[in-house]
Amino acid sequence: MKLDLHRHLEGSHSADALIDVAREFDIRTPTFYDEPAARFRTPGELATEITMAAPTDDSSVFYRCIVKARAAYVSVPAIGALARAAFREAAAETDGFEMRLSLFSMARTLIEHQRIDWRSLAPNEFVERYARPILLEVIAARDHAQFATGTPMLLRLGLSRTFESEPHYRALSSIIIEHAHALVGLDVLGIVPPPDTEPLPTALVAILDGLRPHLPDLTIHAGEFAGHASVDRTLSLSPRGIGHGVHALQSRATLERLAREEITLEVCPTSNRLLIPTALAALERAHGGHTPLRALQAADVHCILGSDDPTPMGTSFRTELEVARAAGVDMARLAADAVRRWTEITGVPPAV
Ligand SMILES: [Zn+2]
Repeated sequence: MKLDLHRHLEGSHSADALIDVAREFDIRTPTFYDEPAARFRTPGELATEITMAAPTDDSSVFYRCIVKARAAYVSVPAIGALARAAFREAAAETDGFEMRLSLFSMARTLIEHQRIDWRSLAPNEFVERYARPILLEVIAARDHAQFATGTPMLLRLGLSRTFESEPHYRALSSIIIEHAHALVGLDVLGIVPPPDTEPLPTALVAILDGLRPHLPDLTIHAGEFAGHASVDRTLSLSPRGIGHGVHALQSRATLERLAREEITLEVCPTSNRLLIPTALAALERAHGGHTPLRALQAADVHCILGSDDPTPMGTSFRTELEVARAAGVDMARLAADAVRRWTEITGVPPAV
């Protein structure tokens, strides 16, 4: 059973889908359109622009790839077309998956493409004119793709620790509650410059507290760019999953707590290799040359596998399975942990 339980919508727009949408919606920006040649770029030409060429500790390289793909967020229907393609493509290589939706950044990007400063919009306008239509469009795209393929698709709402505006996030949280029935949980994500790369702003935690009665299953990206203390701090919010969390391997006590509380680590091998190469090498050196996934399994921590952002990372869930297998990961245990986590999230085991 192939279940991809850590995947982001913004990182799941393939070059094929982006060029299709650029043609359909006539998006003639330099990313998609070769002005001197008077033609749209080929998916192959675009792929080199939106895929990381090599590992780097500089996360801005990854972010630039995401920004280029987001150039296609020119309208709600364009976002819908991209979402339908992303859901169908994920379905083609899995038996089920969970997609994470960064609603704030998608709304902000759409507004910026209309040459409006998002900060000039009142929170209610930000939400009603942009965020809610995007959320409804993505939910409809999911429902459509799920019906067409028969592959179960979970949707999780991600809130970024970049936390640009408390009033706008508060307005966003009110519509998230209204549409909670179409979602499976909340995620905290986002990359912040040092010194604290994985902060948990107090006001964001308060917003999460207000949302959790409606969406109890919380996952938090932690222990990816920062050390094990970031995972420890995160555990005070009682998440059921930790995005990445590989730095937990720095602390025996952290590993024991994760195992004891049966918290699932969402491990994305190619993502780690590309985004945190120096930290990854140090973790592997400290664990007999074993990859984090294998070392975490040895510490009795529940782990699932994720493709994270397949387009900028030039990977797929299929590739992640091969990478894990080649690294000596216990694949039966990985599959059992994925079924266990799916059941925890949805309340029912995945259909075989
Ligand atoms: Zn992630």
